[in-house]
Amino acid sequence: MIQTPTETPMLRQYLDIKSGHKDAILFFRLGDFYEMFLEDATIASETLSLTLTGRGKDENRIPMCGIPYHAADSYIAKLVDHGFKVAICEQVEDPALSKGITKREVVRIITPGTTLQTSSLEEDGNNYMVAIQEKPDKRVCLAFCDNGTGEFKVTECANREDAFVSLYFLNPKEVIIPIDQSWEFSTTLLINPVQFIGLADATRLLQDFFEIHSLEGFGITSFKDSLSAAWALLSYIQSTQKHRLSQFTRLQEWTQDDGMILDAVTIHTLELNRSRDQKNNQNTLFSTLNYGKTAMGKRRLKQAILRPLHNASLIQDRWETVGYLRDDLLSREEIRECLAGLPDLERLSSRIVSKRDNPKEVLALAESIQSLASLGPILKQTSGSLLHTLEAFFTKAFSQEAPLPKLISHIQKAIRTDCPSISRDGQIINRHYDESLDTLLDSFQSIKDWIAALEEQERQATGIKSLKVGFNKIFGYYIEIPNSQLGSIPSHYMRKQTLSHAERFITSELKEKETILLTGEEKQIQLEKTLFLEIVSHIDAHIGFIQELAHHVSWLDFYQSLATVAQKNGYVQPHIAEKKEKECTIIQGRHPILDTNPSLQFIPNSIHMSHDKNRFILLTGPNMAGKSTLMRQVALLIIMAQMGSFVPAQAMRLSLVDRLFTRVGALDNLYAGQSTFMVEMLETATILHNATPDSMIILDEIGRGTATYDGMSIASAVAEHIHHDIQARTVFATHYHELTTMGDKDPSFSNFSMHISETNGRLIFTHQLKEGPADKSYGLHVAQMAGLPKSVLSRASVLLQKFESSQQEKPPQQLRLFE
Ligand code: ATP
Repeated sequence: MIQTPTETPMLRQYLDIKSGHKDAILFFRLGDFYEMFLEDATIASETLSLTLTGRGKDENRIPMCGIPYHAADSYIAKLVDHGFKVAICEQVEDPALSKGITKREVVRIITPGTTLQTSSLEEDGNNYMVAIQEKPDKRVCLAFCDNGTGEFKVTECANREDAFVSLYFLNPKEVIIPIDQSWEFSTTLLINPVQFIGLADATRLLQDFFEIHSLEGFGITSFKDSLSAAWALLSYIQSTQKHRLSQFTRLQEWTQDDGMILDAVTIHTLELNRSRDQKNNQNTLFSTLNYGKTAMGKRRLKQAILRPLHNASLIQDRWETVGYLRDDLLSREEIRECLAGLPDLERLSSRIVSKRDNPKEVLALAESIQSLASLGPILKQTSGSLLHTLEAFFTKAFSQEAPLPKLISHIQKAIRTDCPSISRDGQIINRHYDESLDTLLDSFQSIKDWIAALEEQERQATGIKSLKVGFNKIFGYYIEIPNSQLGSIPSHYMRKQTLSHAERFITSELKEKETILLTGEEKQIQLEKTLFLEIVSHIDAHIGFIQELAHHVSWLDFYQSLATVAQKNGYVQPHIAEKKEKECTIIQGRHPILDTNPSLQFIPNSIHMSHDKNRFILLTGPNMAGKSTLMRQVALLIIMAQMGSFVPAQAMRLSLVDRLFTRVGALDNLYAGQSTFMVEMLETATILHNATPDSMIILDEIGRGTATYDGMSIASAVAEHIHHDIQARTVFATHYHELTTMGDKDPSFSNFSMHISETNGRLIFTHQLKEGPADKSYGLHVAQMAGLPKSVLSRASVLLQKFESSQQEKPPQQLRLFE
């Protein structure tokens, strides 16, 4: 703890402001610098590698460090990326006019969950903030929003476990919890305990915020209990941004109604949007399917991957659209060209209305909106109902009477093409936009003309040929006369400055003009700022339209991305089979991620599952034979199909899956501190409790983490329960060969294995799925390939023979289903 020294008035002001922002690093504006003091200075100097200096003398000296205000953005971003909040404290009055200490206030707080700084945000991901509240009946009410895009939703989870699934999905940077509840999260999450208000008050305040009479107009009917969380979230963001949050134009319910449910482990196992090590996100389903041209489209694609559909007609509509765009190369290329280079409209508009200080971005917004005007005509050439809906939207949005073209021409008329990036020094507004600005600029012009003529006029009047009229920032306008000519200066010249070779003078007339010019320039800056803010409030009033535009762009980009990948990688459109068939047929399917690996010759595989045939596939085969790859491939193709994508296969027919459970490989990252076997059992329990007859279960090696007979018994009992009671389609990989006799005579319970051939004791993996169990486990062969010492291998082989012969003497009972 750093000692607080004797207080100066400035330090007193600092400490006073800091006491209201204890959880943030306070950027205290002093002239052209933001200074940090005491503990903030120590933290910031370490995190930002700044030199730690001091302010004051001897025992009153306190740690301090600072950064120039114009370079603040990158420092703020760095602190926020390290999980800190930064409170920006500005001088809110002109220091030259202030009596005593200049008034200062915190004008904005930048936090990891609310930041709008581009460098802190993932381009293709959302930056969500979440508020959660557990109810007495254990339900968890949840609200989340993205400050940059204006998305704002409420939902409910059955319990804490479900809430964690949603949190995994949303991957927020910051969470708000009620002050009286305790929640445990990963250490990287910033947690804000706040007082939640009651539902009635929260509802009223939300209605006031949106200026509506009832939230039912937004369709808030099922999750009204989450409105306290929604208000806690909104009021927290308001307290950080300190101005009206116009980017939030509505509140929506977040439901799984039309969706296939994926849990956190499935998302993790399948590397849908993040790789398992979280380090390199290159080989994910998202990175494979992403041919998006805009940040909005990429975010849409990511969301669609994580929320596949479970509604046949919605899926068919998406397939139809992808198909049309895949085949219409010309229109697709035109769309891609139009979208290329488009800035992130959602975040750009949020930044504009939040910062109110960035003329260049306003101009960029207008230009980028205008560039979308050609989408209507391009889409007119295409077919398909969704593309026609998009065409109708873009055509209407850019029709003459629509608000957006008016906004664009307003901005373009107002803002100079050479405007600066910040509004502080004026030079923003075009001539002929505002009469009073024009009058002011005209009056400057006549003075400037007068000054320009002054030099010649005074040379003639005085007869001094070397007389010069000039200007400098400190002394203003002057008439300069060399020392050699000083004898003939007129009496009304007043001495202003002495140089080594000359004297500088002013006349009362020149002084008068100078005053008009200087006060006029100040007036011009103020007037331009006011006009600029008027334009920003115009954008503010239109932000709903801009978001709608961004929303439609995101869908168009989503479809063109799926169409492009379908064409590039030779994907086909799947077909939907009757629900009761419980079919999942994939002919010559390929793993979408491995298939694009140029150094791997991928071997396609076919699989057929239905209610009556192969509903439960028991998959055996040695390590490295390709079991995990096949299982992941089946799961990934189901997700691709149900999100509306085409699939890497010759054909696919699928009865829609309501929930997909995939457990393949270790899950250590997700369950720190629990044993592997415990994790396996927890996961198995979740599946057995939640799977339905329409689900798909992909399970790898249940029961491996414990003693052989315990493990085998658990694996058999789980298999029996799934097959007999739940009746979900299942691929169940195991090394317990004893299980392969379980489904004798039951065609819905089948054995499959990954084929291998053995020549001269060497294994050859064909990576092909074949009917029937593996003949043996080949564990020793794989151990040999891995390079175990020869002595260990030959000892293992002797022991194996012993075990096998002792088993033959007393053969174990064959396992049969439901004996
Ligand atoms: P283990 O039981 O040890 O987990 P496994 O049977 O699950 O092994 P996989 O991990 O799926 O085996 O596959 C092993 C390797 O074989 C993979 O790294 C992959 O590169 C390759 N492979 C798997 N399937 C195919 C395929 N169909 N075509 C080409 N290569 C494949």
